[in-house]
Amino acid sequence: MQMNTRILRLNKAGIPLQWLNREEAATLVVKGLILWSLGDSAVTIRGGINRQGLRSVLNIPTIIATEGDIHYNDHHVPAVCNRLLFRRDRNTCMYCGDQVTSERLTRDHIVPRSRGGGESWTNLVAACRRCNQRKGNKTPEEANMPLLAVPFKPNKMEYLALSNRNILADQMDFLSSGFSKHMRPH
Ligand SMILES: [Zn+2]
Repeated sequence: MQMNTRILRLNKAGIPLQWLNREEAATLVVKGLILWSLGDSAVTIRGGINRQGLRSVLNIPTIIATEGDIHYNDHHVPAVCNRLLFRRDRNTCMYCGDQVTSERLTRDHIVPRSRGGGESWTNLVAACRRCNQRKGNKTPEEANMPLLAVPFKPNKMEYLALSNRNILADQMDFLSSGFSKHMRPH
């Protein structure tokens, strides 16, 4: 298991809340705040040497439900950032279908900003520079450049899946039960 494996934290109703790093998860375990867990795998954390000369080892399940205060809305999905926008669109230009690296992608406003188009998940798509320039200050209809897919706002499960590059199979299984049709594998 990789060092950057993260732990999926749920509330006690089983609603996914956030990704935790090892230290954050270990703190919850040590404080006895884990209510139940899921998943087929565990993250091992090695602690210090105890008085018997043994190194303490903590095995943390990869999906944990916890007590504790939640300081934000469970269903909140943050505003658009390029990293997640490009991942949502699978690094594919939504006009010509070219798959390019993130460095070569741009954020295109479907309804241009100058014409009132906002910075929302549903008004933004990944586009290659060439298409973005060609489209210019037009709508897709005016530019005769139809979108290849409907842009969607990720729900919380989709957002969590998009925001972790090192997601484990059991974590993905859990999250994908909450995916909309947009995110289901083709
Ligand atoms: Zn393109």
